[in-house]
Amino acid sequence: MSDGTGLKNRGHSHADVDERRAAVEQYAGVSLERIAKYCFKAEDAAHNVENMIGAVQIPLGYAGPIHIAGEYAEGDFLVPLATTEGALIASVSRGMSVITAAGGTRTKIFRDYMTRAPVFRVRDLAHTCQVLEWLDAHEDEVKAAANATTSHGKLCRIERFPTGRNLYLRFSFETGDAMGMNMATIASEAAGRYIEKETGAVMVSVSGNLCNDKKPAAINMIEGRGKTVVAEALIPAALVEQKLHTTAAAVVETNIRKNLIGSSLAGELGANAHAANMVAALYLATGQDPAQVVGGSLTLTDCEDVNGDLYISVRIPAVEVGTVGGGTGLPTQAEALSIIGCRGAGKARKFGEIVAATVLAGELSTLAAQAAGQLGKAHQELGRDKKCQ
Ligand code: NAP
Repeated sequence: MSDGTGLKNRGHSHADVDERRAAVEQYAGVSLERIAKYCFKAEDAAHNVENMIGAVQIPLGYAGPIHIAGEYAEGDFLVPLATTEGALIASVSRGMSVITAAGGTRTKIFRDYMTRAPVFRVRDLAHTCQVLEWLDAHEDEVKAAANATTSHGKLCRIERFPTGRNLYLRFSFETGDAMGMNMATIASEAAGRYIEKETGAVMVSVSGNLCNDKKPAAINMIEGRGKTVVAEALIPAALVEQKLHTTAAAVVETNIRKNLIGSSLAGELGANAHAANMVAALYLATGQDPAQVVGGSLTLTDCEDVNGDLYISVRIPAVEVGTVGGGTGLPTQAEALSIIGCRGAGKARKFGEIVAATVLAGELSTLAAQAAGQLGKAHQELGRDKKCQ
């Protein structure tokens, strides 16, 4: 550290971590005896954190089993969820039990591309047109420059967004089983430098925010980012009544007045009850980038009354996940991925479908609880620390 603690140590061994933590304890005048206790090798996190001083722990539970009939996820799954919100896992489990009793959820991935959108400074409109003409003629060379940086990544599409003296190019990549943000950034930089060299357009930033990463953005809702996934289920009227203590008509009304009209009035991107809750808990458990919960918050939840049965679906346009790379290799996160059979290569799309199924279960349970007037009661019973009341 170079910020007043006097410690410059950048190492990743346990001894380095201990030394750094001791300096922080002294600087802040506190004891960090619990942060000091963790079960993995400090070196395992070398690419995940700087200035490591220990680890914080988040309680981990499971929801399910849920039956999924997807293209990649098929069977019954217990889903690991890391959270500090009491009542969340109970609610998701209730949704999963109803969905499973109804025959399960069907899931489908409709798009799967990670995006990066460099911004170039151009002189004027004439220059913009020259650059775009050159790009039309040399797109394969630009793709080759990007693809030379990675063996699993592939630049598939380049969308053009010109403004006055800015040119935004939105690159869409296949990224194998990685979420792909590092991969796409490195490849985009190579492609951008090639464009610069050939056209005189200046790449001001490899990310011009049209990507769009970790901010709520309509472009991701419409075009998708990462995996665009839909999950659906049809819940027979008897199950809605027995297990959820409400009716399809009441859930549909709640969805319209709350998720559709209320969200619209609030200017929300997406229209859902609490999709980010399930996404956050599953991402934290499995080593995903937690900031990309924003993509999950763009979920659209839809309900219909089908002759008394309840049809429910979620469309999540931006499931930005991987089963290799990032935090997925950290020992406890890798174990959590193994609970759903999603550890390592060949599992990213299966994982994407499990994300959608989990969101569907949480949406169903919460919408039904609100339709039945039970939400406050559940939180009172499960989510309140009695000592704090
Ligand atoms: P990564 O760990 O940087 O890259 C994935 C690595 O896995 C690549 O080296 C890739 O090799 C290799 N790989 C091996 N088997 C693979 C397979 N089956 N499929 C895909 N790749 C395979 O991970 P990332 O997903 O690109 O990036 C995730 C990280 O980016 C997270 O830690 C996240 O927090 C961070 N992040 C970065 C930015 C940014 O702008 N840089 C923004 C947001 C988040 P090849 O490349 O040779 O194929």
